[in-house]
Amino acid sequence: MTRIAFVGLGNMGGPMAANLVKAGHEVRGFDLSEASLKAAAAAGVNGSASLAEAVRDAECVITMLPKGQHVLAVWTDLATLIAEGTLVVDCSTIDVESARRAHKLAEVMNSVSLDAPVSGGTGGAAAGTLTFMVGGSETAFARGKPILEAMGRKIVHCGGAGAGQAAKICNNMILGISMIGVCEAFGLAEKLGLAHQALFDVASTSSGQCWSLTTYCPVPGPVPTSPANNDYRPGFAAALMLKDLTLSQEAAKQTGAATPLGAHAEELYAEFEKAGHGGDDFSAIIHMLREKAGG
Ligand code: NAD
Repeated sequence: MTRIAFVGLGNMGGPMAANLVKAGHEVRGFDLSEASLKAAAAAGVNGSASLAEAVRDAECVITMLPKGQHVLAVWTDLATLIAEGTLVVDCSTIDVESARRAHKLAEVMNSVSLDAPVSGGTGGAAAGTLTFMVGGSETAFARGKPILEAMGRKIVHCGGAGAGQAAKICNNMILGISMIGVCEAFGLAEKLGLAHQALFDVASTSSGQCWSLTTYCPVPGPVPTSPANNDYRPGFAAALMLKDLTLSQEAAKQTGAATPLGAHAEELYAEFEKAGHGGDDFSAIIHMLREKAGG
């Protein structure tokens, strides 16, 4: 049993904290939203009225917040609140630069830190089947792994500070590009009079095979569990895909990496969100691509 403070009890953090409780940890939670605090309390998380109260005596602090600025603000406040040697873990998806700055803040407060973003969405958070991509020292990873195992199925140590965030945005850049590629292929198949199922049967067992095709197939039919069969409800919302593509392009600019398709995927998802579809599953971008072809 570990005394854990969980900061940010939203769509992801709430169920993740609940799984820590289920695994027998003592969990205190803090969130700026009363509603999130209440929902977490119903799952056995001890709600705290302030960050200070939540982290008092904690052996481990976990943050699950929207963006880098929120993480840095909370980690800066932790400096005066936590004991030396406390393990601090950020599970949010944020830019690599902010993740590295957060590790530096932890170093200054003599705590041990990990960046540990996740994939698996709200379903994975509830089921405890998330994948964690982890950056930080071997020592920090060894301490964090058993805690992360209560919330996930696969815990991968990707390297030093920021390596978890780097892996997450590289993976999601592949995902954004490959989804658009699969949508374009179905659009072309429609124009050529080729049945969706025929393209799926061939591509899913050929070199066009990828997750966007075989798990999140953007047309209804071939993969019954894909969001296309559920009116394109997420799933993985287009707004979150845009967030991750934007993070990948910021990193590409900072490092001088050439990512022309990543940049174009970001532009297309920005256009899709602007048209009011940020809440749709990211596979719904097939509609926008069809519209570009005039129907
Ligand atoms: P969310 O908006 O539902 O939750 C964020 C929570 O943080 C909110 O409840 C908010 O009140 C709280 N918060 C903000 N600032 C705070 C502060 N200073 N102190 C305490 N609480 C604060 O977001 P989410 O969907 O849970 O996502 C969290 C992170 O996980 C994001 O970085 C997101 O990109 C990432 N992520 C989300 C998904 C998903 O499917 N939702 C999947 C993978 C990764």
